[in-house]
Amino acid sequence: VAALCPAAAAPQIRATIATSEVTIRLQGDSEAPRLSSLQGAGNLPWLNRGPDTLIAVVEQGGESVPVSWKLNREASRTAERSVTFVYDARSPKLRLRWQWSARSGFGPVEHSVSIENLSSGEVFLPVQPSLTWRWQLSKDHAYEMLYVEKGGGKPSAIGTALLPISDGTRWSGESSTYAREGSLRPREIIPFVLVQEKSGRHSGFYVGIESSSRTRITLARREAQLRGVAGLNPDPEPARLRLAPRETLQSPVIFLGAAFGGVDATGNRLRHWVRTSLAASDAQKDARYPYLVLNSWGSGMAIDESLGKRMLRDAAELGFEMFHVDAGWFRGVGDWVADPQKFPQDLAALADEAHRNGLKFGLWVDWTQAGTSGRPGALRIGDLATRDWMVADPPSGWEPEPFKGMTVDLGVPAVTEWAKRETQRIVTENHLDMLEHDGYLVAQGCARGDHPHAPPDAANLRIEMEGIWPFVISTNSADVSLRATEAYYAVQETLRKQHPGLLLEVCNDGGRMMDFGSAARADYFSITDSYDPLSNRQAFFDASHVLPPAMLESYVEKWPAPRPENFLYMLRSGMMGWFTLMQDPHDWTSEQRKTAKAELRFYKDKLRPLIRSADLYHVTKRPDGKGWDALEYFDPATGSGAIYVFRGSDFETSESRLRLHGLRNGHLYRLEFRDQPGNTRTMSGRQLSSEGITVALPLPDSSEIVLFQQISRDKAAHKK
Ligand SMILES: [Zn+2]
Repeated sequence: VAALCPAAAAPQIRATIATSEVTIRLQGDSEAPRLSSLQGAGNLPWLNRGPDTLIAVVEQGGESVPVSWKLNREASRTAERSVTFVYDARSPKLRLRWQWSARSGFGPVEHSVSIENLSSGEVFLPVQPSLTWRWQLSKDHAYEMLYVEKGGGKPSAIGTALLPISDGTRWSGESSTYAREGSLRPREIIPFVLVQEKSGRHSGFYVGIESSSRTRITLARREAQLRGVAGLNPDPEPARLRLAPRETLQSPVIFLGAAFGGVDATGNRLRHWVRTSLAASDAQKDARYPYLVLNSWGSGMAIDESLGKRMLRDAAELGFEMFHVDAGWFRGVGDWVADPQKFPQDLAALADEAHRNGLKFGLWVDWTQAGTSGRPGALRIGDLATRDWMVADPPSGWEPEPFKGMTVDLGVPAVTEWAKRETQRIVTENHLDMLEHDGYLVAQGCARGDHPHAPPDAANLRIEMEGIWPFVISTNSADVSLRATEAYYAVQETLRKQHPGLLLEVCNDGGRMMDFGSAARADYFSITDSYDPLSNRQAFFDASHVLPPAMLESYVEKWPAPRPENFLYMLRSGMMGWFTLMQDPHDWTSEQRKTAKAELRFYKDKLRPLIRSADLYHVTKRPDGKGWDALEYFDPATGSGAIYVFRGSDFETSESRLRLHGLRNGHLYRLEFRDQPGNTRTMSGRQLSSEGITVALPLPDSSEIVLFQQISRDKAAHKK
């Protein structure tokens, strides 16, 4: 009955925020705001049956204090591209801003909630979700949901899941600053979920989180209602966030968009928005983005000046565009200066040599890690001035690993400032064009009681050692991770401001910090920490549902390739997005060098323009390494496309029929088979979409790429 009362009273404010794809209607009732409906272009609106949930209680002076929120109409603002409803609480005095904005004329809209402490005392808040919903479902439709896992150490057997939403369905997906895999822990997702009707126009919605902090999205269906929440992860409960006097806490920004036309159609619109709006950067404007990279990790920590010089000459000769020095170049963990034994001339000399060879120069750093180096300027665990920066005291006898140390809490203002200076120094001193960060970079928990975040709860504190890293899990984890994430973004944004055009790679031990907040502050992600052809294709298949292909980097490691077909299969499994070779080409035969050189040329001429901006279609089911899998690019603006076809290890079938997507029925397309130079043919869009093309691959672990180009309208089809 109580739920009916607010609905009976007229809302105090109504507002609409829209792009070409989605219209969202909002209303401000006197005690809580509400998203009333979401409507995709040409579809019926989705109706939301509940108000947003605002926190009902805070803690002040050790006491629980109930808060009641009242709409402040005078302070609220509604404009075409931005809506803010303001709610005030009187005791303690708090101000809540419920904000919506449209970053561009297309794509989703964005939303967040901020709470400002206007009282003179410190306040502890529970987790305020970024958004709570209760969608009304229709009895006439079946519904389904899609989520995508992070690639992490190795893609799991699932990776991408499209599941029915039936009565009783309960689902929860989590993301954090660093995904850890374990049998007792669910795999992390890229914080995003898509819900759509299972048939017809596939009308629905999607929500994603623009934050690398500890976040969660939940869905629960009961009869015809689909409840859910997106925002900070309140686990372990009771999560507490500290708010100093005058301080404002902003919940992670989420984006909310309309789904229609199916998973790939919705994905193409979302990726377009991410690429051109959310994650656009100066560095990505260069026509060479995504760059072809040769990385030194094929030789592990052995990198030194002579190996580096040889590799960058190889890189230039083969047609690579960047030489990337991975771990192994520095004096010690936390002591991010080139090892003079390995680099007598220093690293800038090698960077200059790369530049003279027409290459960009990139560098690996694990810049939030403290070690044991005693040299001045090094971040070390025993330093009294900085020992309190670390998320926990190291256990006795602790030693760093060769390229991992103790994580500092970036959310502490002194640490943020230090990190800005340190990353500037590294970029400037070493003449970098690209900076990669790795490891457990951003804290997701902290045992310190004297940092700005809430103190840990001694009765509810776990320290889980992951190798040499302590992961601190307590009721302050949401607070720690949110502050450290914001500080990390400030560091990345400062780097971009001071070095326009600098490329930023998010690695974090491969695919462990993939979300829309890091995407907005970097240029590309290492998508998994396993580098074989199947892992690369699986991780790409998964992540490319929600992130632009050019941002998705595959490291291509040495892999047994007895035949040229296997060698091409290995290369192409990493060539659907950003290609980084993690091998020493010195080990290749002259035949392999020739093949690779030609394939890199082909990537630049034909594939990269598609990877940069074409639509993407997941033509087959997810790769399993045994059967066939295929992925298609098609750019409606130029009428050109490509389909990558892979045959796995099974012996049974030597050909596969694949239907193409996105083509226009009434047009003719000229097809070229990359590995069969004479094999060209012309087919209509209708034929390619309905009958498809047949690709024959006689050998297991082999591949083909078929290019297609619109040549004219099909006159016969046109007459009809
Ligand atoms: Zn801390």
